Amino acid sequence: MKEKDREQKAVTQDKTIEVNPAKPEKAPETVAPPEDGGQRVKERRFRQTDLPAHFIERRKHPRIKTEPPPPPAPPRLEDYAAIIGRPELDEIRFLARHLQGKTVKMVNSTAVGGGVAEILNRLIPLLNELEIPTKWEVITGGNDFFEVTKGFHNALHGGDYNLTKQIQDIFMAYNEQNRQRMQFPEDLFVIHDPQPVGLIRSKAETRGRWIWRCHIDLSNPHQGVWDFLLPMVDQYDAAIFSAPAFTRRLAIPQYLFYPSIDPLSEKNRELDETYIDKVCDDFGIDRSRPILTQISRFDRLKDPVGVIESYKLVKKYVDCQLVLAGGGATDDPEGAVVLQEVMEAAGDDPDVIILNLPPWSGLEINALQRASTVIIQKSLKEGFGLTVTEGLWKQKPVVAGAVGGIPTQIIHKLTGVLVHSVEGCAYQIRYLLTHPEFATQLGKNGREHAKENFLITVNLKRWLLLFQILLGMAKPSKDALSVGA
Ligand code: UDP
Repeated sequence: MKEKDREQKAVTQDKTIEVNPAKPEKAPETVAPPEDGGQRVKERRFRQTDLPAHFIERRKHPRIKTEPPPPPAPPRLEDYAAIIGRPELDEIRFLARHLQGKTVKMVNSTAVGGGVAEILNRLIPLLNELEIPTKWEVITGGNDFFEVTKGFHNALHGGDYNLTKQIQDIFMAYNEQNRQRMQFPEDLFVIHDPQPVGLIRSKAETRGRWIWRCHIDLSNPHQGVWDFLLPMVDQYDAAIFSAPAFTRRLAIPQYLFYPSIDPLSEKNRELDETYIDKVCDDFGIDRSRPILTQISRFDRLKDPVGVIESYKLVKKYVDCQLVLAGGGATDDPEGAVVLQEVMEAAGDDPDVIILNLPPWSGLEINALQRASTVIIQKSLKEGFGLTVTEGLWKQKPVVAGAVGGIPTQIIHKLTGVLVHSVEGCAYQIRYLLTHPEFATQLGKNGREHAKENFLITVNLKRWLLLFQILLGMAKPSKDALSVGA
C-alpha cells in the first residue's frame, strides 16, 4: 500500500485524530524533492517576482500603530459556550458550584508583562464570576530583590550563579517583608514562581491549603539555588508544573497544568477576512503567494537567522514570503543586536518582511498568523512556546523546534511537524507547501489538540478540580491532572 493511501489513527488524550503521514520519517540533511504523499502540487523553480510598487513601499514603511488602542471589554464565561460547547461550560459551572464561597489568593511578582500576568488577568475574573472570590496580590521589592530573583530565574534555567549568603538574605528579607504586610485568611493560596515562595512561612498560622505554581523549566537547575528553594517548596501542599519534563523530585504531590491561551483575546479571536487583508496590506504582505511566519521576540534562542536560512532553501523551489514579526528591540539591548543580525541575514531579499511590533499588536499578530500558509517556531530553547499554541488554535500547519514544551503541543506529523535543523525545517516547510491536503489535516488536528488541552477554559477546569482535591471534596486519582505515576 502506498504511503499516501495509508491512514494513520492516533489517540491524543481521549480524542482520535486522523492524518496522512508525511514521508520520510526523518528529515534529510539536504533539501531534496519530497517523495509522493498526500495531494501533490507542482513545484516551480523560483523566479524573482516582480513585486508591485505598493508592496515595496509598504515593506519599507509598514503602517504600525504607534498608540495603544483602548483595551477591549473582558469576555464573560458565557461567551465561551460558542467555542467549547454547552456541556463543557456546564461541567465548569458544576465543578465550581461545590466551591462557591471558598476564597482564593493568588500571588505573583508582576501585574503586567509576561505570561503569568496574562493568564491571571483572565483566570481571576472567571473564578470570581463563578463565585469563588479570588484576590490577586503582587509582592513588592527593591531593585536588589528583583536583581536576585532575575539571577535565580536564569540559574534555575541552568545558568551559572554565585549564591552568596547576602543574596539569600536579600531574598528572604523581602519575602518576610511581604509576608508581614499581607494577611492570609483565604481557603486556598496559589503562589506563582520562585519570587514569593517564602510566603509559605505563614502556612502554620493559616487554615488554608498552599499551592506552588511553577511556570519555569526546572529540568536542569543550578544546584545551589535549587537546594536553597527546595525546603520552602516542600512545605506546600502541592506543586504545579507546565510540562512533565520541567519537574523535579519533590516530597509533595505534583500536578500538570499546561499554559493556556484565551480564544476570545485579541490575539486569538476570529477575525474578518477584510481585516486580515488590511493588516497584510499595511505591512506589504502579498496574500496571493505563500506566507511563512515566525512571531517571536528577536532573541537568538528563537533562531530567527536559522529561519531565514531555511526560507532561503525553500525559496529555491517555491516562491514564498517570510514574515518575521517580533518586539522588544527598543527596551532590550540584546533584542536590538539580534534584530540587526536578522536584517543582515535577510540582505536585500524583498520577500523577507521584518516587523518590529509594539506590545499592543495582539490583533495584528492574530491577523498575521491567520494569513500564514505555514507557521514556524524554530526555537533552539523554549519554555512552553505559546506562539505554537496560537498557531495550532488558528488551524495552521506549524513547523517547530523539538525543544521545551513544544513536543507537548506538536505530535510529530499529527498536530504539526518537529524539526532539529535548518535543513530539516526547510524540508518540512517545502513539503507542507507542496502538499496542502496534508497541511490542512495537520491544522485541523492541531486545533483539536489545542482545544482539548491549551485553552483557558481547560485551565480553569483544572484549577477547580485541584481546589476540590485539596479541600477534600474530591479524591485524587491517576488522572490527567497528575504528573507521572
Ligand atoms: N508576542 C507578542 N509580540 C511580539 C512577539 C511575541 O505579542 O512581538 C507574543 C506571542 O504572540 C506569544 C508570546 O508573546 O503570545 C510569546 O510567548 P512564547 O511562549 O512563545 O515565548 P516567550 O517570549 O515567552 O519566550
